[in-house]
Amino acid sequence: MFHRLLEFVWTRYSHYEIVEPCTFTTGDGERWEFGRRIITIAKSGDEYYPLKDYPYLYRAFANVRNDQLLLDFVKLYGPLTDEGLTPSSPKPHFTSSVLMLDGRKLNEVVYVPGDQIDRCLKEASWCAHILRYHAKKSPQLHASIKELEVRPSLCTLEIEADPVNGVRMVLEPKCLLDAIKLQLLESISNGVNTFECAACGDWFSKKSGAKFCSEKCKDSYHNAKNKKQRAAKLNVLRS
Ligand SMILES: [Zn+2]
Repeated sequence: MFHRLLEFVWTRYSHYEIVEPCTFTTGDGERWEFGRRIITIAKSGDEYYPLKDYPYLYRAFANVRNDQLLLDFVKLYGPLTDEGLTPSSPKPHFTSSVLMLDGRKLNEVVYVPGDQIDRCLKEASWCAHILRYHAKKSPQLHASIKELEVRPSLCTLEIEADPVNGVRMVLEPKCLLDAIKLQLLESISNGVNTFECAACGDWFSKKSGAKFCSEKCKDSYHNAKNKKQRAAKLNVLRS
């Protein structure tokens, strides 16, 4: 049944930009603050199958460690959240009012489009932690997965009529971020190993025991080590 998850469709746009933090004050005087975000100002995008097209998308996401890498990721794979999926102009915001039964306004809610950078970086670091705990067989993996049990579910199960089989069961993540987390958890539950490069820290797949993600990283690691040893030797000769 789980392969239905591969049918998850997402949209990527041609243009994104980072917007700085902003605040809004609603009619009733409440102040709303929003951090840096990545928004798209494109009107339409292309649909694709992130999980089918990129079976190791979670590794690329776990390698996101700063704003620029996050922007690069979004440019390649699309926004991460529903809020990021809403095309917008650079400084937009929407408000909606929560009304009571008698029609009086209870409060006003401010909504801004865009992926919140802080939140997305935290999620990428969560993915890297899960991979690290799994690679090191750390007991912290168990604790982190336990925490997931109390959070809102990463997907819903949709039941649809199917012309051939009568019924279709589809697991539907709400956004790319949830889909990536599901892909990561599924790979771990299937015993797939991911390794952390000893030189650059990126996550990669290779046979057990490999220490580097590429020949380049292997060379730069050994060059740096040799340089250090030569410097230490020189210091000994000088003293
Ligand atoms: Zn590397």
